[in-house]
Amino acid sequence: MSSKVALITGAARGIGLATAKLMQADGWQIAMLDRDTDELAIALPQVPGAVALPYDVSQPDQVDQAMSDVFDQFGRLDALVNNAGVADFGPIEQTDFQRWRTVMETNLDGVFLCSQAAIPMLKASRGCLVNIASISGLRASTLRVAYGTSKAAVIQLTKQQAAELGEFGVRANCICPGPVRTKLAMAVHSQEIIDAYHDAIPLNRYGSEAEIGHAIAFLCSQKASYITGQILAADGGFDSTGVGLP
Ligand code: NAD
Repeated sequence: MSSKVALITGAARGIGLATAKLMQADGWQIAMLDRDTDELAIALPQVPGAVALPYDVSQPDQVDQAMSDVFDQFGRLDALVNNAGVADFGPIEQTDFQRWRTVMETNLDGVFLCSQAAIPMLKASRGCLVNIASISGLRASTLRVAYGTSKAAVIQLTKQQAAELGEFGVRANCICPGPVRTKLAMAVHSQEIIDAYHDAIPLNRYGSEAEIGHAIAFLCSQKASYITGQILAADGGFDSTGVGLP
């Protein structure tokens, strides 16, 4: 059994919870961070022995507290999965500044803050970062101005992290999931969008939480020890086709 420790943000449900379960099955000790304390309490028993971190990734003091909790509980951190995210669906002219900021605060600031706070522990363990962006960060489409821009920034942030941290043996990679039927996605995916995705994706279907989780677990594992600075689309082939969405 590995004694390595993974901190997964946004772990109370969806892709984050699936990843926590898969990585625990691979032998990782798990810390589950989420600001939704009710959902976190429901999720925690599904990952026996995991530590709950009831914090908000967009708040610097709470992020510092989370890292301090991890150090107190485990004394180390080997992998940080920056998965917490919020969705937004709106055109440029209807995206007021507060709405823009709300998306950036979690999707971009949260990745920056958590990564920065984790770096001392990751350097000590020669660990890794996996950032969860989106196909919306790879390809523009209407109505995704804030969400898509936040995810494109996470892609670039990953490359910056890989460039800076490689000399310390710390790897940084990024997963761009295609559509997955989580609470986040289904709040904004109309039937028209669901149908369009089915048509545009070569595998003709949504992905599952576990299919994204397996890709994350691989990048965190020693099997990926020579992989850093990479952007992996786990998207059923969507990004490779160039077919547009409404
Ligand atoms: P989800 O809504 O099921 O889970 C997201 C979790 O993040 C929730 O538990 C939520 O409480 C938590 N969270 C949100 N903001 C937070 C904050 N500021 N601090 C702490 N926790 C916070 O969504 P999901 O689909 O599992 O999304 C996980 C990641 O995958 C997100 O980054 C999302 O953008 C990305 N993604 C999802 C899809 C999809 O189709 N589901 C596609 C591409 C990318």
